Amino acid sequence: MNKMTIDMPMVAQCNATDCAYNLEKKCHARAITVGDGVHPGCDTYFMSSGHVHEKKRMAGIGACKVSQCRNNTDLECMADSINVGRSGNDITCMTFMAR
Ligand code: SF4
Repeated sequence: MNKMTIDMPMVAQCNATDCAYNLEKKCHARAITVGDGVHPGCDTYFMSSGHVHEKKRMAGIGACKVSQCRNNTDLECMADSINVGRSGNDITCMTFMAR
């Protein structure tokens, strides 16, 4: 596998414990994508009874499609870290701040 090193904001915490990438309220995807252009939902959420095994891998935010967030520049998240959690039926970026 080819590897590259890039700076990304981290997912500090995620309460979506029924997601396959979630172990102990931490996201262990390599990188998540946030947003559908309007709502800051987690696009990577995948409800599953099975979970990933790699606890050392911590998720970053690979892309965010919510340009209306104050932390968003050029469709990338510039926050230091974000929290993800449930908002009604949605799994949402809780760090979202409307411009
Ligand atoms: S803080 Fe804003 S820019 Fe960063 S992931 Fe959340 S919604 Fe996107």
